[in-house]
Amino acid sequence: MNIAFRRITPTPTEFDISLDGVTLKGEVSFRERNLALLIAGLNGEINLTCDICAEDFATMLHEKIELLISNGVYKGFNETYDVVEIDENLDLNEFIRSEIELVKNDYHSCESCKNNERN
Ligand SMILES: [Zn+2]
Repeated sequence: MNIAFRRITPTPTEFDISLDGVTLKGEVSFRERNLALLIAGLNGEINLTCDICAEDFATMLHEKIELLISNGVYKGFNETYDVVEIDENLDLNEFIRSEIELVKNDYHSCESCKNNERN
């Protein structure tokens, strides 16, 4: 799903896409000049690899995403939001893929390793 930046208005545009059992549901609205605000939830079951024992395990994802979409290079600085730069088109398929990658690249430990860490 693609949303052209010029089509983003102050009235939120809703989207609801999924990839590999993970759903990205939310809305994007125009803020100012080349900036839009994206608010979405990332939910679903995701397979992760334990960083301790290297076993795969499934976990439920409940992430809230709030960030600014900048059409072109973002030259400002924003303390509140992360900024994602796009080139005219907001490619939500690419976006959900990269958000899932971000989650996977975090540190994870499976339930049994978590329990071992506590003991
Ligand atoms: Zn483990």
